[in-house]
Formats: sequence, structure tokens, C-alpha cells
Amino acid sequence: MRNKVYKTPALIVGRRNFSDVDRIITVLTKDFGRRDLMVKGIRKHGHKWGGILEPFMMIDLVGKVGNNFDYVRDVDLICDYAVLEDSLNGFGLTNMFLEVVSRVSYEGETGELFELARDYLNCWERKKFELVGNVNVMLYMSSFIMSVLAISGRLPVIDVCLECGKSIDQVGLVLGAQGVFHRQCVKGPDEVREMSTGEYGIFKKVITRSCEVLIEDGCEGDLICAVLEKCVFVYNQFWQREVRSFVFMKNLMLNEE
Ligand SMILES: [Zn+2]
Repeated sequence: MRNKVYKTPALIVGRRNFSDVDRIITVLTKDFGRRDLMVKGIRKHGHKWGGILEPFMMIDLVGKVGNNFDYVRDVDLICDYAVLEDSLNGFGLTNMFLEVVSRVSYEGETGELFELARDYLNCWERKKFELVGNVNVMLYMSSFIMSVLAISGRLPVIDVCLECGKSIDQVGLVLGAQGVFHRQCVKGPDEVREMSTGEYGIFKKVITRSCEVLIEDGCEGDLICAVLEKCVFVYNQFWQREVRSFVFMKNLMLNEE
């Protein structure tokens, strides 16, 4: 495998400095899952790839497999999604986007996550909704989180009660990491969250509809805020770790209303 050269479309999802002039970028590739690549000399003034190898740039990447890292051989810019970072809310959103993606991705995975991330970024470009104080941001992020869970095979069961198997068209629901329960059916120590009928309706739409349709339909601000919290809860339960950037983003949303 060493010295093998490969070419693939890739989305840059992270970067960190290495030594005085080098940098390591993390990319989601269409063909090889997540990869870390060394970019020699990129931090020197006037480097030809300066400004291109940044998060949310979609590139055609030529990489070379090395001992500890791969190396960037060549780069062509396909698309720049960095416009997302234009505002503070955008900054919060991009951080959350990257955090969700980076936790799920791994080397050698199929290109599903790459395709998903690209679809969502394209959706963002088409919709161009305002970031500040907008429920669409929360719809968008809820939809993204649940889609990531879906490709991980961890979508919660929402049509029937997980315990008794009966329909759940009644009040008194709770949500656990695996799905919904009647409140009276909850047993054991699993962590659960109360879920109102209104929230359940939105939650179901988030899981079953495309992001674009969700945003066209819209919904009430306080409901989607609660639903996004539930999506983050399910995601956190799955990973046993908190999405830290969500707290930051939530504070932004609440302050700007
Ligand atoms: Zn039940």
C-alpha cells in the first residue's frame, strides 16, 4: 500500500498545524472514508494551496500513502462551502456539523457519509436561508443528525412503543436512545426524555422527510428547538459522549430571539 497514489473527491472537515510550516488535514473521501493527510510547507507565505485546503472546501484530491500519514500530491478546488461561516450562527452550525461528521467517520468506510455531507451542504447552498434566529437552522441540523444516525444504522423506532409494540398515537410519550415508549411502559434504568405530542409530530417528520421538504413546510420555533435537543440526546446516547458545540449553538439561538 505504501507509495500508492490515489485520486478521489474529498470534503475537508478538519485541519491542525504540524511542526512550523506543515499542516495535517482531515478529509472525508468519496472512495476511502476518512483520511489524514500531511501538507508539507502549506503555512509558508504564498503557498499555492493556501486558502484552498480549509474546512468545507470540496476538492479533487490526489493523495499518496505514506508510513504515518498520507501526503497531498495535488489538489483541484471543486466547490467552496466556507460561506457557511459568514456569521456567528454559521460558525456555531459549522462547528456542530464538523463535530457530528468527525465522530461518525472512519478510515475505509463507504462513501455514504461523504455523499450525505455533500447533499446537506448543497441543500444549504440552494436554500440560502438566514442563519440568525431562524427555525430552519434547527430543522436543518435535526435532519442532518438523524440522517447521520440513519447511515450508522441507529435510527430510533418511532412508529410503535418499543416495550409493548402497540401504536403510540396517544399522549404520554417518552424517547429513549432506541426509540419511543408509552410512559407507563418504561422499565429499567435507561435514560429517557419526555416528548409532547407536538414534538413527536415534528420528530417524525424530521426522520421521514427530506431536509428540503422540512424547510419548505417549516414549523413552530419552540417545538423545533425541543426536537433538536431530542435529536442531540439520541446522538449523544449512541456515542456516550456529548456534542459540545450544540451548547454553544443553542445559546446563540436563544440569545437572538
Ligand atoms: Zn407501550
